[in-house]
Amino acid sequence: MTAPAGAGWITEAVNEEAGFRTSLKVTRAVREVHGEQTLVVFDNPSFGRVLTLDGAIQVTTGDEFVYHEMMSHVALFAHGAVRDVLVLGGGDGGVAREVLRHPVSRITLVEIDRAVVDLMVSEMPSISRGAFDDPRLDLVIDDGARFVREAEAEFDAIIVDSPDPMGAGAALFTSAFYADCRRLLRPGGVMVCQSGMPFLTGGWFGGHAETLRGVFEDVAFFLSTVPSYTGGPMAHAFLSTDPSLKSVSEATLEKRAEGLGLATRYWTPAVHRAAFALPPYIADLVAPPAPLTPEG
Ligand code: SAM
Repeated sequence: MTAPAGAGWITEAVNEEAGFRTSLKVTRAVREVHGEQTLVVFDNPSFGRVLTLDGAIQVTTGDEFVYHEMMSHVALFAHGAVRDVLVLGGGDGGVAREVLRHPVSRITLVEIDRAVVDLMVSEMPSISRGAFDDPRLDLVIDDGARFVREAEAEFDAIIVDSPDPMGAGAALFTSAFYADCRRLLRPGGVMVCQSGMPFLTGGWFGGHAETLRGVFEDVAFFLSTVPSYTGGPMAHAFLSTDPSLKSVSEATLEKRAEGLGLATRYWTPAVHRAAFALPPYIADLVAPPAPLTPEG
């Protein structure tokens, strides 16, 4: 996986089945950590500093704002009065950074691998930008699935910033996990999850939607374009016990954003609304199966 300084390319092979690879030029190999997970940090001309986890691109300093703004602001501005937030995964600190820009009282961030937090704070500090030092943030090193199974505390928002559903990340995509999250969500609460690249994972994506529908009556998706997550738009699941949250008006979002005076590079009230407009090829993938008729 690693390439010598200034000479090689790193190839991400998470979409082998789809016959799809992404290669990034390494201008400088910064650090490698071989612990519970293999973490590699390197520099690239287009994406800046890049973290891979077990061979999969996780975050880059060049385009992280897209994903972190959409995973955070869509949930918090749709709800409008979030106080207690649970972040599962997210050890790079980018989601926490964006959430802490809101007047939240508490964030509990449950990351399974301490090495990710330490590596990110030392080699890519612009991602967390001091979020781990904020007194409102409780960092818990634990498996997110075990944490939600045993937790009692309630949350207004839950954000699942997981890797793809492989390795330790697979536990954050099961119906038992979603049911535990729902139990911790206050009435009218909101949950957002990374749901992968529909164009490359069509079959899995449809099954994922079915799993979510087994736990939440109202399942919606919104899209974002993260250049380093190759393969088309990324999907994010939007779940709430209040079905009106997914269609909060642009005017209401405008008012809430003005109140906070947030400078953003991707999220805006208009982008928020537009992100829920799914093109038919994606809407068809997540459409509930047609009810069986007597004719079958
Ligand atoms: N945005 C990235 C993506 O879409 O692939 C994810 C970034 S974030 C770095 C993912 C984090 O989830 C990693 O730090 C990883 O260690 C953590 N993680 C994986 N499985 C986990 C689990 N079961 N519980 C808690 N954290 C987990």
